[in-house]
Amino acid sequence: MKKVAILGSTGSIGTQTLDVIRKNADKLQVVSLVAFSREEKLLEQVKEFNPSYYGLISKSGEQCLIEAVQDADVAVVATIGITALKCVIYCLENGIDVALANKETLVCGGELVMYKVGKAKLYTIDSEHCSISQCIASRDGGKVNKILLTASGGPFWNCDVNSLCAVTPAEALAHPNWSMGSKITVDSATMFNKTLEVLEAHWLFGLPLDKIQIVVHRQSIVHSMVSFTDGSVMAQMAMPDMRLPIQIALLGNGSQQIIAPIDFTKLVNLTFQPCDVDKFPCANLSYEVFDKYPLAPTIMNSANDVCVEFFLKGKLAFDKYYSTITNVVEHFASQLCNVSVTVDNIINWDKQAQTFTKNLLNGVV
Ligand code: NAD
Ligand code: MG
Repeated sequence: MKKVAILGSTGSIGTQTLDVIRKNADKLQVVSLVAFSREEKLLEQVKEFNPSYYGLISKSGEQCLIEAVQDADVAVVATIGITALKCVIYCLENGIDVALANKETLVCGGELVMYKVGKAKLYTIDSEHCSISQCIASRDGGKVNKILLTASGGPFWNCDVNSLCAVTPAEALAHPNWSMGSKITVDSATMFNKTLEVLEAHWLFGLPLDKIQIVVHRQSIVHSMVSFTDGSVMAQMAMPDMRLPIQIALLGNGSQQIIAPIDFTKLVNLTFQPCDVDKFPCANLSYEVFDKYPLAPTIMNSANDVCVEFFLKGKLAFDKYYSTITNVVEHFASQLCNVSVTVDNIINWDKQAQTFTKNLLNGVV
């Protein structure tokens, strides 16, 4: 029996993880459940899975994340934001494997986290990165030339660029292929999610950013591809359903069928096209800010967090994300040029950048 702690159990990834555990009850056991605030939903889960520990971050503080992993073999990290950064590092230091859905942890603290991998393993629960791992493993010994990171393009891919200023939160929340939490769904609409995934791939697979290319693939059937130096390209395909990467992270490849296979009598077209960065400049942000200063990815992420919050409240136009984020990254450039990436610096400067972005959007600065 593998003992699983789920951090962020009430969210989209958290509940799908519980479904994977339900279907693999002979191999996986829930030992702890942590959520942020929806206590009723958490208590329902506690009733069904009977974990030895459960907690609410909003009540007990972040310490409950560390308490939750004490008896676990693997921690599924499905919280949002950088709340679980310390806990991820704690797990890796203490021989507890991590199944990481939360990409912000790698975007902000990738060098700290990857340095700790060894005693414990880090598995990715992001469909693209899970797919890249499989492509690389399938050509054991093959030399990677490029990662081709696929993107659906989100709900506004075919919109006229001039109409983007007027799109509504409800439209942004209607993703064509995936059902996910609201933050990542909005990030998919701006394609900021893809820029986070570029950095996530950089840290997981150790390739420079110019070897990671975004390819738009509207159907979300090919979950990413890897181009090798001999000219071959491997792709991994599956119906868009996160339970597959979750099961692979928890149980490896030889497991039972967890999602429906692709029906090629119904699948009409698979298309691939370059990313339109003029229309979706947020997709390009990581390439633009990564080398500016060590904490630039953190500041970029903090500014985006606030943009999402303001957009969902109807207080920020969709086409103002890019300029807001670049302004915030630029604002901190001189004071952060020599500030290194440490857990404390990430947490401290994330707060400062969020406050600054809020003031900027409220017209206070
Ligand atoms: P969600 O909003 O559905 O759920 C988030 C979970 O985190 C909930 O349990 C909630 O209680 C908790 N939470 C809320 N606010 C929090 C805070 N301030 N600090 C800590 N925890 C908080 O989100 P989700 O879609 O499940 O995504 C979770 C993470 O997984 C994100 O980092 C996302 O980028 C990543 N991810 C999600 C998907 C997906 O399909 N949903 C795919 C790949 C990666
Ligand atoms: Mg993804």
